[in-house]
Amino acid sequence: MKTATNKKTISKILIANRGEIACRIIHTAKKMGIKTVAVYSTVDNNAKHVQLADEAIWIGEAAPKESYLRADKIIQAAKDSGAQAIHPGYGFLSENADFSKLCNDNQLIFIGPPASAIEAMGLKAEAKIRMEAANVPLVPGYHGEDQSVERLKQACIDIGFPVLLKASAGGGGKGMRVVESLEGIEDAIAGAQREGLNSFGDSHLLAEKYLARPRHIEIQLFCDQQGNGVYLFERDCSIQRRHQKIVEEAPAPNFPEKVRKAMGEAALQAAHAIGYVGAGTVEFLYENDEFYFMEMNTRLQVEHPISEYITGQDLVAWQIKVAAGEPLPISQDELKINGHAIEVRLYAEDANNDFLPTAGKINQFIYPKESSHFSLDYDHGIRMDTGVSSGDNVSPFYDPMVAKLIVWGEDRDIAIRKLKNALHQTHITGLISNVRYLEKLVSLESFSQAQLDTHFVEDNAEAIKTSGTLTEHQQRLHQIFAAWYLYQQRLKSEDEQKENRKDKIQSNDVRSPWGMKTGWRLNSGHGDPIRLLAPEEISIQIRPLPSGSYSILFAEHNYILQAPNISISDSTSNQQMLTLTIKGSDVQANILDQSIKAQVLHSADNIQVHSHYGTSEFIQPPRLTMSDSEEENDHGLHAPMNGCLTEVRVQSGDEVKAGDILVIMEAMKMEHSIKAPHDGCIAEIFFNQGDLIDEGREILSFVDENEA
Ligand code: ADP
Repeated sequence: MKTATNKKTISKILIANRGEIACRIIHTAKKMGIKTVAVYSTVDNNAKHVQLADEAIWIGEAAPKESYLRADKIIQAAKDSGAQAIHPGYGFLSENADFSKLCNDNQLIFIGPPASAIEAMGLKAEAKIRMEAANVPLVPGYHGEDQSVERLKQACIDIGFPVLLKASAGGGGKGMRVVESLEGIEDAIAGAQREGLNSFGDSHLLAEKYLARPRHIEIQLFCDQQGNGVYLFERDCSIQRRHQKIVEEAPAPNFPEKVRKAMGEAALQAAHAIGYVGAGTVEFLYENDEFYFMEMNTRLQVEHPISEYITGQDLVAWQIKVAAGEPLPISQDELKINGHAIEVRLYAEDANNDFLPTAGKINQFIYPKESSHFSLDYDHGIRMDTGVSSGDNVSPFYDPMVAKLIVWGEDRDIAIRKLKNALHQTHITGLISNVRYLEKLVSLESFSQAQLDTHFVEDNAEAIKTSGTLTEHQQRLHQIFAAWYLYQQRLKSEDEQKENRKDKIQSNDVRSPWGMKTGWRLNSGHGDPIRLLAPEEISIQIRPLPSGSYSILFAEHNYILQAPNISISDSTSNQQMLTLTIKGSDVQANILDQSIKAQVLHSADNIQVHSHYGTSEFIQPPRLTMSDSEEENDHGLHAPMNGCLTEVRVQSGDEVKAGDILVIMEAMKMEHSIKAPHDGCIAEIFFNQGDLIDEGREILSFVDENEA
């Protein structure tokens, strides 16, 4: 091993990134006694990475091109704070050769490869030319200069259909088109060129044989400034949607040792060919025991923690040491695979709507208590890397990844069991996420059997959808849990309102009672049915009985809930008996001698019931006007859920009639009109169209006609 080099001091690092990766880097820097400087945009002023860093510098508005992509401001921030080095994380400026150069020009250490290596791998076509020269196996294809439609067409014919057209500058699965035959090929070429130009400012295309059933397997490698290089084995990232990874594991299952070695060595060959330094990943497609170079990512990858788990190394620490001129801490022979690690990416996205990103406030982010953060814990083997907490916003400006859940087990079966349990205990409420989707995916037989290729998500779409479907009986139990929970909430809210009314009579401050009010009641009166959308409406009537028991009435079923130990008997079949005990939001039930425990999570209008049967999700239909029978007059209208104010139909001073629509809110892709509860006059409007409003906030106040 070569060791000689000039060592530089790094005692303060600026992190040119945000979210979980910024927090990840801060974690290791702290461990190494290195001070950290965060940069942040306006919407991130209270973000976790800002709180964790020793210093934080504002660099601009929310849009990345005004903040996290502003190389000039970031360099200035580094100089102002006295940092010697900049860590770019992943995304943003991490693979920007000009930024790497700019750091050098300003005597700042760029924690990443030299600009020349970034440039060499920046464009897929050029990278392929270099790899071909270094004898690294490529997917057969065309990566020439001639970009005429005729030449590209001829290339497709020569390669043989199906062919994949790729934007050379592409990334994140964008700018790709599968072409099955000559028919429509011109449109496909034009489409891929357009996407390349619009997304990456470059319309250059390459054409590749479209492999039918490949696995995506990539090699984590590391090189130091002394010319040493090692590979830290592979990651299988075949489970993707929209050509983007959602589940990654290391080592790759059913992967022959000789291919592991050959792929690792090919990756190192690729890295040495471009004078690489630092952490890098070489991506391959693997099919029928053959592998083909796809591209090299010249940075730390999102999925690096699984490589850390199986090798016991801290890759961010390696990055910092290598950037300071230290040699790699261990040699290839010393690296061994230990156990199995799997990562799932928790995204704010809707798996039922083509995985479209969602945004909004995370009301609750709950995960296993024993999770470690950014560090390896082999006892529990559960690591949750995240840059957010309950109450934070997922901003539409940035990547919608909320967290990465990483598990480690002695073998793959143990890791999968841990992953299932950990996902079952993980809940994100307030916005739509893919947590339940992932829970179903990793519960599939095809996943435990490692039937992996890049079509896993499409091939298993139906199975994922129906996985863990509850029986009618289990669904009804969950509905009872939800209804009982809401019923308790209603009683509590009615008690509070009674208290408020008492205060109101005693108070001299005209505004105080309005501020104290919690807003709309869920329903009024003990006798009103509890309504749930699942997605069709279910109405459940809960009534106290003189005996102290409760009657729970569905359309066809009647249960008796007995107090005080609250047991429920199904009077229609007389078969089911269950006992409920309520403890906070935990509801325990015993059915005959079987015991189930369900957790009820309530956030805005969303209610989730989790038991060992699975999860049910309900929406609570909003009750938007006050009934005439209410004894009190409300002077303020409150947001019934977290949402966006999409329309304001009134102005201060307007006279309104009971039932007039005043404002419209949108939440969970549904519109809710908020109407005047009485005739009156609008006093003040506290929000504007387009504002995001938290549940319970007063939107406007008005003067009741009878009081004016
Ligand atoms: P990006 O840079 O946009 O992430 P990649 O070139 O890394 O694009 O490819 C992303 C994914 O697209 C791969 O993981 C794989 O699933 C699929 N893919 C890419 N090239 C091919 C190919 N030649 N044949 C089949 N699938 C491919």
